[in-house]
Amino acid sequence: MESLTACPPWLLDEGAALLSRSSSGRLPHALLLSGVDGIGKRAFAQWLSESLLCREPNRSMQTGVRLGACGECESCRQLLADSHPDYKKLVPEGANAAIKVDPIRALVEWLQLTASQGSYRIALLEQADTLNRSAANSLLKTLEEPSDHAVLILSATKLGALPATIRSRCQKITLKMSDPALALDWLKDQVNDPEAALIEAGGGPFLAVENSSDENLASQELLLKAWQDLFLHKGSVGRISDSLSDLDTSLCLATFSRWCLLAAKQRQMLEIGVNPAVKQVLSETQERLKIEQWFTLYDRLLQLHRSDSASFKTQTVLEGLFADIRIMTNG
Ligand SMILES: [Zn+2]
Repeated sequence: MESLTACPPWLLDEGAALLSRSSSGRLPHALLLSGVDGIGKRAFAQWLSESLLCREPNRSMQTGVRLGACGECESCRQLLADSHPDYKKLVPEGANAAIKVDPIRALVEWLQLTASQGSYRIALLEQADTLNRSAANSLLKTLEEPSDHAVLILSATKLGALPATIRSRCQKITLKMSDPALALDWLKDQVNDPEAALIEAGGGPFLAVENSSDENLASQELLLKAWQDLFLHKGSVGRISDSLSDLDTSLCLATFSRWCLLAAKQRQMLEIGVNPAVKQVLSETQERLKIEQWFTLYDRLLQLHRSDSASFKTQTVLEGLFADIRIMTNG
């Protein structure tokens, strides 16, 4: 049997704070959840919705504070059956993966109706940064004059891509890693090397799990080959960047920056918890740059990753970078 969503352990405090605001009638009508890729925005939003809709929420024995959904009441059973009348979720659709105006109009109308079970009527908008302009405009009215029971939960990684008019009408909540030990413990049954996987994923545990999928392991193989050819001067920069053209730019930059850090470290550091294939390639290429140069390269990769380079074609971003690496490793 399916089960309700668990709150990611590193977000429990944030979750408890919101549930306690709900208990005292101070839950904002619109929440905007942000945070790095893979921090758990989707799971958190889902868990929060389920907890708010539950009729018999679990409570702390000591404080009486709401802790989450019971999983057994009628509301929870409807959520499990995907048939809850007061809960809707919109995700980006179509070729350009956007949230479009028609579904938003329907959602806005639906939100005006009275909650059929008397508590909240909750709408989730995943990847709200993909709202197109007319969809955003349609949403605005609901944000300006929310009905009493309506709760809108938006999640977005690129906050800047959301119109300021939307952002300013939502209560912004940045989801953060409260304690990395909690994430490592959560990861230990899901990935081989939690510590390395979490670093590689830029601190997003859900991304770390996604990275260890078969598809991503195949990408890692391509990246390793490219790294090796690049630093050992096998083949042209054009051919190497071409070999990565199907991969996501962020993935390339994130992986390479992690390897730079590993390469910069002492040989014995490299022994700890690194995948053997990566270890092999890094030890072959480690001598190609001095420690300071590895850090310089690492900084450059981070900068590229943080800038909007992810929206350019992978090949364009990588070609310039690779040409410079070839120059650095010429001496
Ligand atoms: Zn329940």
